[in-house]
Amino acid sequence: QRAKRDNLGWTRFTTGPSLPDRRTLSLRNALHRALERQELSVHFQPIVHAGDARPYSVEALLRWQHPRYGSVSPATFIPLAEESGLIMSIGEWVLHETCRELKALQVSTPGLRGQVNLSARQFSSPHLLGSIRAALEAAGLDPSLLELEITESSIMSAEDAALTMQGLRKLGVRLAVDDFGTGHSNLAYFKRFPVQTLKIDRSFVQDVGENPTGTDAMIVRTMVGLARALNLQVVAEGVETEKQASFLRDAGVDYLQGWLYARAMTGEALLHWLTERHEQVLSRP
Ligand code: C2E
Ligand code: MG
Ligand code: MG
Ligand code: MG
Repeated sequence: QRAKRDNLGWTRFTTGPSLPDRRTLSLRNALHRALERQELSVHFQPIVHAGDARPYSVEALLRWQHPRYGSVSPATFIPLAEESGLIMSIGEWVLHETCRELKALQVSTPGLRGQVNLSARQFSSPHLLGSIRAALEAAGLDPSLLELEITESSIMSAEDAALTMQGLRKLGVRLAVDDFGTGHSNLAYFKRFPVQTLKIDRSFVQDVGENPTGTDAMIVRTMVGLARALNLQVVAEGVETEKQASFLRDAGVDYLQGWLYARAMTGEALLHWLTERHEQVLSRP
């Protein structure tokens, strides 16, 4: 990073990481208290079968409602939690909440799966396996109902990614690569890493509805082809329009997630949503 004096004599950094501003510092302090003050909650966004929009799974997404700042975006606070190490306790809590919720939902929606995002720090932690096992046991949840979402960059930055993933597979949980295509995609890693699901990032999905012969459409088809060849399931994220959904369905994507179907919602709202869906599916001719 290059330091430069401006005409008032202040040192400014023209490149490189900027210094944290007051709001960032204040948010970071607030985040330390957020869990105990019950400002955090886990919401769930449904993922549906591409063919008939039946519920398949739900992704756990953290929400933070700060008394003064209002709702803070995970894009803002997850990196802060990651930097400070708070993600370890917050992530643990998300796991427990999600396993508990999923277990409860098995009564009305048997077989419903859940996805939990793991941060890079969680994925590299020596306590990962133990904490996943503890969360599953505390909830009495069948491990095959839990799928952990890991980004390409977390996989690449971890020292023993392959070993960790094998350990997780032995526990019986499933593994997904999140935001696929946005990291340093290295196709060779699919040979070494035992993942079951590939999640195509929203940035590739945005354009395919209006531009089904464009570059993104071609990329999506290629990703699906890759997934087929490797026997992986494919989820497309950020599906907002019927046109996108129909392109993705035709391209062979297995599951769809996006505002077209539902936004992330509380566990209680999810139960209502699932119940309504179930009745629709049952009453179909
Ligand atoms: P992600 O894992 O890729 O999650 C999907 C994001 O896309 C969510 O953003 C979701 O609300 C958003 N999304 C879903 N459908 C649509 C759509 O149709 N249109 C648009 N515009 N957006 C859609 P969200 O909830 O803001 O979370 C952002 C990111 O924060 C997540 O991206 C994930 O990387 C991280 N995150 C959220 N919860 C957790 C958590 O519990 N642990 C960790 N480590 N990271 C989390
Ligand atoms: Mg995710
Ligand atoms: Mg994602
Ligand atoms: Mg994404």
